[in-house]
Amino acid sequence: MEKILNYIDGEMRAPSSNKYINNYNPSSGLVYSLIANSSKKDINSAVDSAKQAFNDWSTSSKKFRHDVLMSIADKIEENFEALVVAESLDNGKTESLARRVDIPRASENFRFFATAILHFSSETHDMDGKALNYTLREPVGVCACISPWNLPLYLLTWKIAPALAAGNTVVAKPSEITPMTAYLLSKICIEAGVPKGVLNIVHGLGSEIGDNLTTHPDVPIVSFTGGTLTGQHIAKVTAPMFKKLSLELGGKNPNIVFDDADFEKSVSMAVKAGFSNQGQICLCGSRLFVQETIYEKFKIALLEKISELAVGSPLDNKTDIGAVVSHEHMTKILSKIEEAEELGGEILCGGKRKILAGNLKGGYYLEPTVIEGLSYDCSINQEEIFGPVLSLLPFKSEEEVIMMANSTKYGLSASIFTNDISRGHRVAAKIKAGVVWVNTWLLRDLRIPFGGMKQSGIGREGGFKSLQFFTEPKNVCIKI
Ligand code: NDP
Repeated sequence: MEKILNYIDGEMRAPSSNKYINNYNPSSGLVYSLIANSSKKDINSAVDSAKQAFNDWSTSSKKFRHDVLMSIADKIEENFEALVVAESLDNGKTESLARRVDIPRASENFRFFATAILHFSSETHDMDGKALNYTLREPVGVCACISPWNLPLYLLTWKIAPALAAGNTVVAKPSEITPMTAYLLSKICIEAGVPKGVLNIVHGLGSEIGDNLTTHPDVPIVSFTGGTLTGQHIAKVTAPMFKKLSLELGGKNPNIVFDDADFEKSVSMAVKAGFSNQGQICLCGSRLFVQETIYEKFKIALLEKISELAVGSPLDNKTDIGAVVSHEHMTKILSKIEEAEELGGEILCGGKRKILAGNLKGGYYLEPTVIEGLSYDCSINQEEIFGPVLSLLPFKSEEEVIMMANSTKYGLSASIFTNDISRGHRVAAKIKAGVVWVNTWLLRDLRIPFGGMKQSGIGREGGFKSLQFFTEPKNVCIKI
């Protein structure tokens, strides 16, 4: 069985414990590879190597770093199909989604930041000719980059690429639930000629090696994407060490449909926002608010559209909904659906595990589920479920829906569907979320500030915001 090894000091290494964790294929429920179960010793080796590499890498020219990142992007594209297959096998997502979204975005992340660093500039502040301040932007040091399982290579490279472009070295820890494409990326980096120690990737349990990495005294900066509880923990353990911290956390995003919206488009977008990647995208619109004047008509159209979704093998191009990521996660989602029923919710469709035939019978498939009749402030409408589960809620007025949309502890994203442009602007201004879409969902420009308000995170990623995070400003004042 293939062993997923660590990438430390420019080479693939077995974990020092020589212990491995089973890696499951969610589409069949079977173990298909083994993951390095790393320990503090491996983290220490990776940090030491990154520290050694920092001097040369941080003083290398921007053009040199650009060229290295571009050659990683080239190699990702050369290995495109292998990465698509690996991402789908490891995560349960459909190959078509990995081909359309995950893998193209991984190479794009490297190209985007390879180029961005060539255009990155800093400020000067002139004191009426008496003195001149200029700000240098220096790489920070060894960065910890920690990413989740839902968009494995996409989110890992979204951190690694700007960190490296800015001149830092990196120790990355992908989720142990989906390590395969990070492992393939390690091999790609060796082929692409990434200098040793510049990027290190260590696999293992977040609860065990996560703290070793985030609290390591030689790691001054942590970029984390994952759940709010893990984010809280990282904030707590790193605060006394005054580390630079970026947290991209959970969401419970509202999708708001006004009665003047383009009906067909808003139904299609509600389905896409609810069920893409089996509802396992932090930006999914899991709370669907529909104005009461069109509620019944919308509900019928929504359920009809959902009935057309095919749950099936991730390899099949006709499949819309693949497997959720793990048995544990599937059980959690099913228990949330039970909780919704106990709270008086009515399951309008789905609600159950789907057992497929043949060698897929042990796979973690769930029917797309819609629940109605729950109050906006109950646990199901307040806590993230992160699965193919939509809660449908009617609303009367703009004021009421804004109040309900803003009622959770999260503030990651929101979508508004309306043909009244003034209403679009007005509601967008009042929604507490880092990203608001009007008449669309998940339309991403990599230059925008991306991140969450409230308990959805701290800081913003994207474009120059990422490069600002991964650099330390130093002001120099010259008396003239
Ligand atoms: P987790 O918080 O469980 O894990 C995220 C990463 O943190 C994993 O690599 C995990 O490792 C690691 N980790 C776990 N414990 C620690 C620790 N004590 N110290 C350091 N690292 C640790 O999140 P999930 O992987 O379950 O991802 C789903 C969550 O991510 C959802 O809440 C989702 O909303 C959020 N998310 C947010 C995004 C955003 O941009 N705001 C984007 C995508 C997802 P391991 O898996 O090995 O335990």
